Amino acid sequence: MSKNNPKHLNPEQFRQKGYQMVDLIADYMQNIEQYPVLSQVEPGEVYSSLPTRPPEQGELFQNVLNDVNSKIIPGLTHWQSPNFYGYFPTHASGPSILGDFLSSGFGIQGMLWSTSPACTELETLVLDWMVDIAGLPEHFHSSRSGGGVIQDSASSAALCAAVAAREKALSFDSKRNITDLTAYISGHTHSSAEKSLKIAGFRDEQIRRLNVDDSFAIKGDDFARRVKIDIDNGFIPAFICATIGTTSSLAIDPIREISEVASKNQIWVHVDAAYAGSATVCPEFRNLLDGVELVDSYCFNPHKWLLTNFDSDLFYVANKPDLVNALTITPEYLRNKATESGQVFDYSGWQISLGRRFRSLKLWFVIRHYGVEGLRAHIRKHIELAEHFESLVESNSSYEIFHPRVLNLVCFRHKDGNEKTKQILEKINSEGKIFLTHTILDDMYVMRFVPGAIHTEMRHIDSAWAEFVKAAV
Ligand SMILES: *Cc1c(COP(=O)(O)O)cnc(C)c1O
Repeated sequence: MSKNNPKHLNPEQFRQKGYQMVDLIADYMQNIEQYPVLSQVEPGEVYSSLPTRPPEQGELFQNVLNDVNSKIIPGLTHWQSPNFYGYFPTHASGPSILGDFLSSGFGIQGMLWSTSPACTELETLVLDWMVDIAGLPEHFHSSRSGGGVIQDSASSAALCAAVAAREKALSFDSKRNITDLTAYISGHTHSSAEKSLKIAGFRDEQIRRLNVDDSFAIKGDDFARRVKIDIDNGFIPAFICATIGTTSSLAIDPIREISEVASKNQIWVHVDAAYAGSATVCPEFRNLLDGVELVDSYCFNPHKWLLTNFDSDLFYVANKPDLVNALTITPEYLRNKATESGQVFDYSGWQISLGRRFRSLKLWFVIRHYGVEGLRAHIRKHIELAEHFESLVESNSSYEIFHPRVLNLVCFRHKDGNEKTKQILEKINSEGKIFLTHTILDDMYVMRFVPGAIHTEMRHIDSAWAEFVKAAV
C-alpha cells in the first residue's frame, strides 16, 4: 500500500465505531436531564478549549469521542431535554435519528430522479401520505395539479415561493419589471419571509407591513385596502405570506379572506405553518386549515413538532409548473433519458440548491414506527401538558395569562409588569433547571412556555411550575 493512502475505516472498523457512537447517543439521551438546559459556557470557551491547529496525523477515534464528551456536550443547549420549553421545539426521535443515519450511510445525491430513483419516489410517497395524514387539500397530491417537495427549512420554502410568485407576476406583462412588484407581510410574520423577499429581489419599499387585530392576526380588510392603493399607484401586487401559527403567539391569519382578495388580483398566497401545521394530523385541529384549499403554496416543519430531526420542511404547491418552471435549469451535463421522458420529478428543480439529501427516509421511519395514531397521540399529549400549565398559571395570584392559549403555547407574565417578568425569566434560565424564551406583544414583555419536547411528562410541568412559584416571591 502506498504510504500516501489515507487510513479509511474498513467495514468491520466502521461497525465497531458505529456501535460506540450509538452508545454515546443513547448515553446522552439517558443523562440529558442532568445537564443545565441552557449551555453555561462563555463566548469563546468552546473554541479555546480545543487545539487551534488541526492534527497532521490522524488521531484515534476514541480521542475524538473523549473531546465530544468533555468539550462539546457542555457547549450544547439541550433542545431534547424534557425541561426545554423555549422557542418552538425541534425534535430528534429515535426512528428519525436512525433514518437520518441511514441517509448518511447511503451517501447518495437526489438531485435528479435518475441519480437515485428511490430518493425521489420515496419523497413523493411520503409527501402524498402526509396530504392524507394532515388533512391537506387533495390537489396537493402528486397525482393532481399540485405536489410537494421536502425542503431543509421553512425559510427555503418561503424563498422558493417568493421566486415562483415573482416569475408568475412578471409573466403577465413582459414590459413590467421587478421594481413594479409589491409583497405583503405583517409585523408578526416570521423574519424568514422578509429575508426571502429580499433575496428574491424585493426592495424594502416594495414590502408592505399589514395591520394586525387583537389576536395579532393580519386584518383581511387592511390587505384589501393596501392592494387597492398599490394597484391605483401602478404597482403589481405579487405575493403575500400568511401564517398559521406565528412565532410570537401562534396567531392565525385569516387565510380564506386573504385568499379571496388575492385570487381576484392574481397575488400568490404562501402559507407558513412551520410550527402549527403538525397539529393538523389530529382531526380536531383541521379547522386551522380553513382556506388552505385556495392558496398557492403551503409549508410546515415535521422537524419542529412531528418527531423528525432537522431538516424537514414539507413544501406544497397547488400548481407544479408555477414552481418547477421558475427553478428548473438543465445544463447539458444533467441531461438524461428519464428527464426527457417527462415521466419523473427532478426535485433539484423544486428547490434552491442542486444537490439534495435523502431527506424522506427519516420521516418515513417516523411514520412507520409511530403510525398515524402515534403521531396524533404525541400532539394531544403536548396539548394536555399546556392545558395543565395554563391552569397552574390561572390558579396563581402573582401571574396572569397574557394571551389565550393556542395549541401548546402558553403566553404569560408576572402581574408586576415587564421588569419583574424579565428578571424572573433570566433568573430561571441561568439556574438551568428549565429553559424558556420571551416575546414582546403590545409592548408587554411576555414569557412563552411551550411544552413540546418529546419526553416531557406531567411531572416535568409540575417541577417547572415550582420554579416560577419560587421566583415570584
Ligand atoms: C420556526 C419558524 C420559521 C422558520 O423555520 P425554519 O425551518 O427554521 O426556516 C418560519 N415560520 C414560523 C411561523 C416558524 O415558527
